[in-house]
Amino acid sequence: MIYKNYINGVWLDASKGNTFKNIDPAHTDKVISEFQDSDEVDINFAVEVAHNAFKFWKNTPAPKRGEIMFKAAAILERDKECIAKGMTQEMGKTLAETRGDVQEAIDMAYYAAGEGRRMAGEVVPSELENKWCMSKKEPIGVIGAITPWNFPIAIPSWKAFPALVAGNTMVIKPAEDTPWSVCKLAEVFHEAGLPAGVFNVVTGYGTTAGFPLITNPKVKMISFTGSTATGKIVSTTCASYMKPFSLEMGGKNGIVVMEDADIDLAVEGVVWGAFGTTGQRCTATSRVLVHIDIHDEFIEKLVAKTEKLKLGCGLNSEIDVGPLINEKALKKVRGYVTDATHRGLRPLVGGYEIESPNDDVNGWFYQPTIFDNVDINDTLMQEEIFGPVVAVTTFNNTNEAIWMVNNTGYGLSSALYTQDVNLAFRFLNEAETGMVYVNASTIGAEIQLPFGGIKGTGNGHRDAGSSMIDNCTENKSCMVDYSGKVQKAQIDNVS
Ligand code: NAD
Repeated sequence: MIYKNYINGVWLDASKGNTFKNIDPAHTDKVISEFQDSDEVDINFAVEVAHNAFKFWKNTPAPKRGEIMFKAAAILERDKECIAKGMTQEMGKTLAETRGDVQEAIDMAYYAAGEGRRMAGEVVPSELENKWCMSKKEPIGVIGAITPWNFPIAIPSWKAFPALVAGNTMVIKPAEDTPWSVCKLAEVFHEAGLPAGVFNVVTGYGTTAGFPLITNPKVKMISFTGSTATGKIVSTTCASYMKPFSLEMGGKNGIVVMEDADIDLAVEGVVWGAFGTTGQRCTATSRVLVHIDIHDEFIEKLVAKTEKLKLGCGLNSEIDVGPLINEKALKKVRGYVTDATHRGLRPLVGGYEIESPNDDVNGWFYQPTIFDNVDINDTLMQEEIFGPVVAVTTFNNTNEAIWMVNNTGYGLSSALYTQDVNLAFRFLNEAETGMVYVNASTIGAEIQLPFGGIKGTGNGHRDAGSSMIDNCTENKSCMVDYSGKVQKAQIDNVS
């Protein structure tokens, strides 16, 4: 099947008529479908359409916009299983996880729908008599969304639902590995009655389709999620156009396991955090810091649990770990592991790729891998591998543990396992990450909380939660002086 771009409520071929193939990463000989290989011409057309749609959409009452989001939520709920199965085929993670991905979109849709009846500004007192001061939120205009492949519908939903309910229009360029899920989202909006031109999907590659979205002057903001390397391109390009942008980027997330921790619980948290989604989450646990006194017991249990993980096709309910997304990702993981062995490190478990872990599959599979006794400054501890590789080291005391967990250029997520409530609160204060967990893994965000990170992970914005509307609106301060005379703020009435 050949999918088209969704522009102005209709499905269109790319102007040059080129397509690219979408491959099932668990069956690499299987082409699932083809998508439009779009370029600047297609992007510019979609932006023009979204620019025109903004003129009426911004004036549609927010509660009415919210009702459409509510209908979209119900359609997503109805189609959850079908979308989850298609997503597993498209990007490999297990069906339980793709169901979670769609559920996150549903949760976001309902949450944003409710916002249609809030969208609150502020009313504040004036320092002058007979003067009224308030602020209101206004949409920005056409928002360009550029999204990654690892949460193919959740992340586009984090961006689309708040932006649309706030009155913006959108052109989205999904990741080239997962365009299907975003085309499904367009179908959902279409069925929900979203007017033509408000949400537009243009598929293609980053440099040819993503970049022109950033540079188009009618795109008034870029909302980006992806790697820190691409985020830097987005950031410098937007800066040269004086265009607002939000960045959600990579992570290097650590779990600290104290000597009083429930070791079995911590082991479960590490296995789920490190190998869920085959380690391809921005919040994946890729570094583990264990108190020296419990190290041996912890490692023994971690290795035993990891060895039991079953690799294969995510549609099979007995499978724990799916494939990597593509050959480039496999080469990247292979490169990190090979380099580590050249530095004298030896994996306790894993450390090799396996094309066919069972008869049903042939794909980009990599055995979950654990390295122990890794120096905190080693590449394995510092760089985002984005695969099923975890590095472990020990610490002697709390200060050292907190220093270690913060010793990274990223700042997305961190976790602490302890029974000590005082330490738990100290960790919440001192962890240099946008998200902090106590007695839970580094993954598992909920949409009613802001999502994002600091340092190399973000630029101060947050998707989702209470910040989601702020992220895609401007505040307008409005003042009405009904005194009938000239009143001077900061000058009159000051003794
Ligand atoms: P990526 O940076 O390669 O691609 C992300 C998007 O940017 C894709 O749509 C891609 O086509 C586009 N792109 C690439 N080059 C571009 C360019 N020059 N101009 C414009 N667009 C361009 O990232 P990825 O491999 O798709 O995703 C994995 C990365 O995303 C990891 O680093 C992961 O940590 C990060 N991520 C972060 C979060 C978060 O919220 N912090 C969530 C998920 C993933």
